[in-house]
Amino acid sequence: MTECTKCDREAVMHAAYSGAHLCETHFCESVEKRVRRRIREDGLVPRDATPDEPETWVIGLSGGKDSVVLTHILDDVFAPDPRIELVALTIHEGIEGYRDESVDACVELAEDLELRHELVTYEEEFGVRMDDVVEDDPENMAACAYCGVFRRDLLESYADEFGADKLLTGHNLDDEAQTALMNFLEGDVAQIAKHFDASIGAFEDREEQDEFVPRAKPLRDVPEKEVALYCHLQDLPAHITECPHASEAYRGEIQRLLFDLEENHPGTRHSIMAGYEELAGIVAERYREDGDGSKTDLNECEECGSTTTRDVCRKCSLLDALGAV
Ligand code: SF4
Repeated sequence: MTECTKCDREAVMHAAYSGAHLCETHFCESVEKRVRRRIREDGLVPRDATPDEPETWVIGLSGGKDSVVLTHILDDVFAPDPRIELVALTIHEGIEGYRDESVDACVELAEDLELRHELVTYEEEFGVRMDDVVEDDPENMAACAYCGVFRRDLLESYADEFGADKLLTGHNLDDEAQTALMNFLEGDVAQIAKHFDASIGAFEDREEQDEFVPRAKPLRDVPEKEVALYCHLQDLPAHITECPHASEAYRGEIQRLLFDLEENHPGTRHSIMAGYEELAGIVAERYREDGDGSKTDLNECEECGSTTTRDVCRKCSLLDALGAV
């Protein structure tokens, strides 16, 4: 038996990047501590929030382990805090055999936590299901390229409708390190700047973005495997089946690459993110100063009125191509 680094109980996990062996209690505490620290360091709770004027945080709750763990921890952290009101928002993409069960997990969790829970579907909002989109594929793209645009649109528009002060998502350390690496490999410096302003770094380092509800990712210091273990140990009602379209994405290749790097060089994900955040902050500042393309004028979409850099937003042009109502 391997003992916990902090007590004499049996360790349930070993973090190669830190050398720590932790028992169930100390492991769960360490996950919760990292989320609290991230919330504090990113300045998510404004000093002027009061019980009379609470902040509304909308959480994108997909029913997968990441968003379920985030919702559970946030409820645990903030349930006694009258300055924060949590709303869980679930989006049903219309993927046969996948989303129905994860919606059940969302409903169960929201009921357990007595949380306000809202469900919106692509079918009701856009008149299409992802299964039909994949079948038609008018733009000859991966499923995720459509799905990501639709999901972002719904998260943003509903967060806005619910009067959210912040929109929280369950991205973990692996997700963020993958995004960082993809942005590097694609040579997309403007995207690095946008990524920073949209969701990473402390709020005070980001530019005010009046048009969009600011985003936050309080789970971004916790590796995916640890999120899964926490979910299991806490017996949370998460849906663990992967979307059938997940492996098609370029991200899948990056995921495998990072997995090997982390196995051979523990700590790679942490060092990628430490360097990336610093660099992204510098790049974001530089782009704001220069106004050289990353700060394109924003318009109202001619079709739906949402904020966009084009005449017709990406969501509407994809829906047009799909012939959706
Ligand atoms: Fe949508 Fe792709 Fe996620 Fe599946 S993996 S839910 S298609 S974004």
